[in-house]
Order: sequence, then C-alpha cells, then structure tokens
Amino acid sequence: MTSAGRFAPSPSGELHVGNLRTAMLAWLFARSTDRRFLLRVDDLDRVRPGAEAEQLRDLAAVGVTWDGAVVRQTDRGPLYAEATERLTAAGLTYECFCTRREIQEAPSAPHSPQGAYPGTCRNLSAAERGAKRAVRPAAIRLRAEIAEATVLDVLHGSYTGVVDDFVIRRNDGVTAYNLAVVVDDAAQGIDQVVRGDDLLPSTPRQAYLASLLSMPVPEYVHVPLVLNAHGVRLAKRNGAVTLGDLAIAGVAAAEVRDLLLASLGLPAGTLERALAVFDAAALPRGPWEWPGAGRHNARS
Ligand code: GLU
Repeated sequence: MTSAGRFAPSPSGELHVGNLRTAMLAWLFARSTDRRFLLRVDDLDRVRPGAEAEQLRDLAAVGVTWDGAVVRQTDRGPLYAEATERLTAAGLTYECFCTRREIQEAPSAPHSPQGAYPGTCRNLSAAERGAKRAVRPAAIRLRAEIAEATVLDVLHGSYTGVVDDFVIRRNDGVTAYNLAVVVDDAAQGIDQVVRGDDLLPSTPRQAYLASLLSMPVPEYVHVPLVLNAHGVRLAKRNGAVTLGDLAIAGVAAAEVRDLLLASLGLPAGTLERALAVFDAAALPRGPWEWPGAGRHNARS
C-alpha cells in the first residue's frame, strides 16, 4: 500500500478557518512528501445532518483535493470490533461500569497522573462484574501496561504523555475515538498524521495502542491552532469564521485561502503554487490569531 496523509473531520458542523488551515497543512505535508491524501469522516459521534456535505464543499473551495472515495467511520464497525476482540483475547481489556461522576470523585491511584482513570474497575471479580452488569452496560477499557509513552512529532520533537486505561468502546456500544483513529489510519495505509496540536496529548495513547495491535505508528505533525482575539482557540461563536459566514461578510473563499496561506508564510494562489515553495522547517511554530472578517483587508 502506498503511503498517505489525511484529514479526518468530525461532521459536527461547518469547518472554521482554523480547521481549514489544518486541512491545507495536512494536504501540503502529504503532497510535499509524495503521499496520497485521504479524506475520512469521523462520524461515530457528534454528527449534525448535512455537515459532511458542507465540510467537503468548503475543503474543495480552499483547494484541498483528496484521492479516492471519502471513507466514513460508521461503515467500519467490523474493523473496530476485530481490533477490540484481539485486545480482549490478549487479556488487554476490561469492562468498566463507572459513571463520569464516579471517576471524578474517586481518589486517584498513587503515582497516577492527573486525569488518568483511577483503575476502579480494573480488578473486579466475576461476581462483582455480574452484579454491575445488571445495573448498567459496561464500557471497555484498555488494560494499559505502562503509565506514559513518548512519541516523536515533526514540529514538537519528543513528546511524553499519559497512557492510562482509556476507553476503547463506550458503554453505548460506540467505538471510542482513540481506537477508531488507530485502526483506520493503519487500515488506510496512513503513515502521516497532521492535525491540530490540541490532539497531541492523546497521541501517546494512540501510539501505544497501535503498538499493541502490531500496527505501524505514523509520523505525527501537530500543527499550531488558530486563536481568537482573546488568545483562545477559535470557535464558531467568534463571529464570521466559516466560509459561509465570511461569504455573507463579503469575503470570498479564495481570499480566505490566501489569508490562511499568508499566515503560513506561503504565497497566495492555488495550493499547488504554495506546494512549490513549501518547507516544513520554515513554518511558523506558534499559534496564529485570526484577524477577523473585514479587518484583514487593511493588513494585506
Ligand atoms: N476527527 C477528529 C476531530 O475532528 C480528528 C481526528 C484526528 O485527526 O486524529 O477532532
């Protein structure tokens, strides 16, 4: 299988300029390293009807093209089930009956890092499990044999983070993001993962899971986020930040694309043109503040 990069949005709503910038970067990283570029819709949860079509339309409008058909996670249940069964057969999973509240209120295990699952259900007896099953359905957690792992990131270098007994299947039966992303990236031949750096803390968990499943660990590139005027991660409520809203404010998609390219130190125009001079080492390393609709014209 040839190597590939990807963009994998969750279809919860329209993409905003920060998402589009990350997608453009993912495209540039893949194309500049002769990889295919795939589009996967991470639709296991947070789905808003119609959002997928809007997202694909907006990606195309800023020049992001992809190879082959769009893949949807909801079509891939058997792959996730197979991986979960493999982990279970290896003794690497357990059922967890904790509510969110119980986890928050549980005393954390000695030496376990902040936010890590405290291990409440790790060593339940068969009788205890039986009793709890009668009350509520179980989630499935990974029985992690390490507490942290180190990954290598193209922009961040070596990054060490928590690996706890994280959920791989929720108690409503839905595959958890951390399992789905690992299984899909491997099955799709994705060996380069470019995404927002808010996901860096999840990466040690994912790399560990890939190694347990004998799947290759991809190259990671966690790119800086776009911030609002208050220095906080851009969100939909920060005014006109989607192509739809920007069009209403009189800013065309090509202008947005050029503004995003300029924020990366790249020339205006098509992504192909930017690709010709793209140099990962020269990318800005810090977050970028969205100048706001309309105002940016004064800057250019
Ligand atoms: N679907 C995830 C999101 O939109 C990103 C998955 C990934 O890039 O690993 O937050």
